[in-house]
Amino acid sequence: VKASGRNSIRFFEPKMRSQTSRFLEISNHLKHAIDNNELELVYQPQYSFAEQRVVAAEALLRWNDAELGRISPADFIPVAESNGFIIPISDWVVNTASRQLAEWRSQGLSDLVLAINLSAVQFRQSELSKHLAAIVSRHGVDPGSIEFELTEAVALQDPVLASLTMQRLKKQGFHLSIDDFGTGYSSMSYLKRFSVEKLKIDQSFVKDLKDSESDRAIVKAIIEMAHSLGMKTIAEGVETQQQLVILEGYGCDEIQGYLYSKPLSAKDFLEFLATNSKI
Ligand code: C2E
Ligand code: CA
Ligand code: CA
Ligand code: CA
Repeated sequence: VKASGRNSIRFFEPKMRSQTSRFLEISNHLKHAIDNNELELVYQPQYSFAEQRVVAAEALLRWNDAELGRISPADFIPVAESNGFIIPISDWVVNTASRQLAEWRSQGLSDLVLAINLSAVQFRQSELSKHLAAIVSRHGVDPGSIEFELTEAVALQDPVLASLTMQRLKKQGFHLSIDDFGTGYSSMSYLKRFSVEKLKIDQSFVKDLKDSESDRAIVKAIIEMAHSLGMKTIAEGVETQQQLVILEGYGCDEIQGYLYSKPLSAKDFLEFLATNSKI
């Protein structure tokens, strides 16, 4: 009787509390993820319609903890951002991506660009642009082959700081894009100030492109606005042929999504490029 009583208490544990303990569990294990070699980068191809080839890849973090198993970056990045681990983890990402790019260069991939996600926390780091340039140059990688993705939400949180940091990154030679575009109500004036070269149309607009007239209108407007401001566009989360045809018709420059390729290990990425990667 006692045992079942205890179980029922567990069963009715408030959701808040279990979320907190999950957070602490992730936090405790994440501390050792780098030292235990539990982090990995996967690379998702970005296909250019004009060039009819893969022009870039987005580096995406994967974490396989010995006890907790695979944990999605959507779950552990927020934890890392709140406890400060995001700084060493992000440095690990830039370091690993640069090393990989240098290796691919030596294997003949001469003009591939790697897109790397920047966190809001990094954005508040002083001397961020110099710090990143130092990591990249350690591997003999040209900053011009790295593109940093900053979410529209982060850019809008503090537009003055964002535009300053972006100008500095640009000055170091890095490319810049705005991630999850369309979810944060950017104004045209901010976009001009941000000196970004590319907008990543958020996957929520791509999802219902075939059936939603308003999503089609939004996507078409984003592409036209970007082009009139001299920016390129990439659509993320492209999963169907219909979405691809609509996007190509609107003049979207690049696509990324499961239809073309899932994120791949470094080895599989190289194989993917070597085999038939034409659409
Ligand atoms: P994100 O930057 O918006 O990345 C796109 C997400 O969409 C990735 O999820 C990718 O695997 C997924 N995706 C790609 N194609 C498709 C598709 O066709 N359909 C659908 N439904 N999803 C697709 P992932 O890898 O789980 O990453 C989730 C988020 O975690 C990323 O969203 C990004 O915000 C964050 N993240 C991942 N790696 C890093 C990193 O190295 N640093 C930072 N700061 N954040 C990262
Ligand atoms: Ca562990
Ligand atoms: Ca991204
Ligand atoms: Ca995104």
